Amino acid sequence: MSTFYDEMARLRESGIAQRLGRVTPEQVRRALDRPAPDAGDFLALLSPPAAPFLEDMARAAHQSARRNFGPNILLFTPLYLANYCDNHCVYCSFNTTNRIERRKLTLAEVEQEAQAIAATGLRHLLVLTGESRTHSPVSYIGDCIAVLRRYFASVSIEVYPLTETEYAELVAAGADGLTMFQEVYDEAAYPRFHPRGPKSNYRFRLEAPERAGRAGMRTINIGPLLGLCDWRAEAYSAGMHAYYLQRRFPDVEISLSCPRMRPYHGGYEPAFPVSDAALVQIILAWRLFLPRAGITVSTRESPELRDHLIRLGITKMSAGSSTLVGGYAHAEKESVGQFEICDRRSVAEVWAAVAGQGYKPVYKDWHDLGAAGGGCPQRPGGLPYSCAMQGGLSWRER
Ligand code: SF4
Repeated sequence: MSTFYDEMARLRESGIAQRLGRVTPEQVRRALDRPAPDAGDFLALLSPPAAPFLEDMARAAHQSARRNFGPNILLFTPLYLANYCDNHCVYCSFNTTNRIERRKLTLAEVEQEAQAIAATGLRHLLVLTGESRTHSPVSYIGDCIAVLRRYFASVSIEVYPLTETEYAELVAAGADGLTMFQEVYDEAAYPRFHPRGPKSNYRFRLEAPERAGRAGMRTINIGPLLGLCDWRAEAYSAGMHAYYLQRRFPDVEISLSCPRMRPYHGGYEPAFPVSDAALVQIILAWRLFLPRAGITVSTRESPELRDHLIRLGITKMSAGSSTLVGGYAHAEKESVGQFEICDRRSVAEVWAAVAGQGYKPVYKDWHDLGAAGGGCPQRPGGLPYSCAMQGGLSWRER
C-alpha cells in the first residue's frame, strides 16, 4: 500500500526548491484569483515573489477562515507527563545527553494537574512525553488518559510514533487526537537533527499519522519545526502532507502547526531563521490551499504576534501553557522545560484577547456522547456546550 512516504519521494524528485525558484509574480496573481488554489498555486503562494502580495493573501485568508470556521478560536493547553527521552534531537532540552532532572508524573499527580487545568475552564488537552518506551510505555500513557478523560472532553497525544495497534489502544483509553510533528520533511537533512535513537527512523515517523487515522483518531495535527531547513520547502511539504491526509481520511479533522525554534537547554542555533513575515506567509498559504484544515499557533510566539494572527486564518491557540513536567500543580518540583515559552499570559488573558478582537474563544468544540467527559460545562437549557467550529454543530453532528 502506498503512503505519504511515496508521495514525498515524488515531490522531492520534482525538485521543490527549483520549482520555488521558477515562480513568477504572474503565477502568484493567478493563484490568488483562483477560488480553489491547486498544489501548483500553493507552491506559488509560498515562493519569494509572493512576499509583496501578503496584504492580498491576508484578506483572502481572513475571508476563507470566517467562511469555514466562523469567528471561533479553540483554546487548549499542553500537559507534559514525562521528560525521559532516548533521542538526540539537537534542538531540544529533553535530548537524552542533556543533564537535566528527569521525572514522570504519578497517576495521582496527573489527577492534580487535571484539576488545576480544568479550573481554568479549558476542556481540550494535549498530553506529551519524551520518547522513552521504558519510562513512558503505552500502558502508562493509556492510564494517564483514562484519568484525564474524567476532566476533559478531548485528550490528544503528542508522544513517540506508535504502531496502529498501539494507537487503537490509546483511542480505546480515551485519546481522540494525534499531534505528530515530522520536524524535518527533507529526508536527506533529517539525520543531521536526529542522529541516533528511535527518532532517527524518518519513515516510521512520517507514516505515523496514517497509522493513527486507521486506528480511529478523530483529529490529526502535523507540522515541521521551522528554522532547521528551508522554510518554504518544509511548509510546502507539510501542506502537501495535510492535503494527502485529508483525501485519505475524509472524516478526520486535519490540522497544521507552525512551531518556530525557541531557546532551550542547549546551544543549537537555527540555520534557517524564520521571520515574522515568513511565518505569516506560511499561515496564509496554508489557509488558502487548505480552507478546511485547522491551523494552530502555540505560546512559542509572542502575545503581539499571536493576537495579530487571529485575524489571518488560525483556528486554535494554546493558552496558559507550561512545558515543565507537572507545570500546573507541581511546578516547584521541576527544573527545565522543553523550550522557552514566549506568550506567558493566563488562559483568562488569552480568552480576553481573542474576545477583544470580536472572535469567540472556544473551550470545547466536541462532545463525545459515548464518553464520560465529566465536569464539562453545559449551556443554559442543558444542551452540550459544543461551541462548534463549524456552524454551531459538534463534530458528531456535522
Ligand atoms: S524533541 Fe522529543 S524526541 Fe527529541 S529530544 Fe525532545 S522530547 Fe526527545
